[in-house]
Amino acid sequence: MHSLAELLAHALAMEVEAAERYEALAEQMNVHNNPPLAELFTSLARVERLHAAQIRARAGAASLPHIPAWEYRWRDPEGPETAPFDVVDHRTTPQRALAIALHNERRAETFFTGIEHTAADAQVRALAAELAEEEREHVRLVERWLARYPADPDTPAEDPDPPLAQG
Ligand code: ZN
Repeated sequence: MHSLAELLAHALAMEVEAAERYEALAEQMNVHNNPPLAELFTSLARVERLHAAQIRARAGAASLPHIPAWEYRWRDPEGPETAPFDVVDHRTTPQRALAIALHNERRAETFFTGIEHTAADAQVRALAAELAEEEREHVRLVERWLARYPADPDTPAEDPDPPLAQG
């Protein structure tokens, strides 16, 4: 990684993926009769689509290299580390939707920050810094929403004092 074309290809794939996931989450929040969260996810989908368009514009006519899906696909924080996130269904509660969003926004932020700190090319570093900052904003936004929702009753919090630790 680390040519400008590679960064653009990766960024584009991540933004398109995020937009699609947010659209699915928005739909699911409508099913849950939660218009505020449906609106949040719809607006995040719009922002990610806008980023994708900006990246495409920046890439110009350059044909971008292919990026393998496992490098950019969303993950389910509760699933196995290797499992891509592709199922949103009736079990996807508001809390869970926000947890999935937070996990994947953090992942994107980490990705771009890594490039910001390691790329040899100054132009690549600058673009990565810009994208990392935008992902940080998404992380903060999702964190604020998550704080408004009580713990998910379907997803028991980690037992602070598991029986195995007692003895
Ligand atoms: Zn984002």
